[in-house]
Amino acid sequence: MSARDVESRPSPIAGLGLFAKREFAPSERIAPYSGTMATEPPPEASPGGKVYTLEIAPGRWLDGSSADNPSRHANHACHPNAELIWHEEETTAWLTAQRPIAAAEEITFDYAFSLAESLFHPCACGAADCVGRIIAAPLRPALRRHLRFSRPRD
Ligand SMILES: [Zn+2]
Repeated sequence: MSARDVESRPSPIAGLGLFAKREFAPSERIAPYSGTMATEPPPEASPGGKVYTLEIAPGRWLDGSSADNPSRHANHACHPNAELIWHEEETTAWLTAQRPIAAAEEITFDYAFSLAESLFHPCACGAADCVGRIIAAPLRPALRRHLRFSRPRD
């Protein structure tokens, strides 16, 4: 990965996003998500605030808020083109292509938020079937059922 591989610029999803500056092949490493590892969850994030601390494994959090983290602006999407992969023997996690990524495409991954976290973080990824919340993919069907019964469809 080099500085020419990715860039941060305004995103249609939210704030700044991370964009590919060249093509990436499936399972190719795009950029490190570098930061500080912690075994405690971060203090409660402000509702709707930008999130940089992710639970990358059960009981392991990675605070990627440092300006040195080239991936800190990568947005969540319901159909991401990358995933965050961390191997225990490594000090950093990597955004890794899940499918072919074209140059200039926005790089997104699943923040894998819990139901509780999702309540404070709307998703605006633009997918036709966007669930409307930033939440881990396996939890989306349950959230969808919940939303269907708790408020009128829009
Ligand atoms: Zn979405």
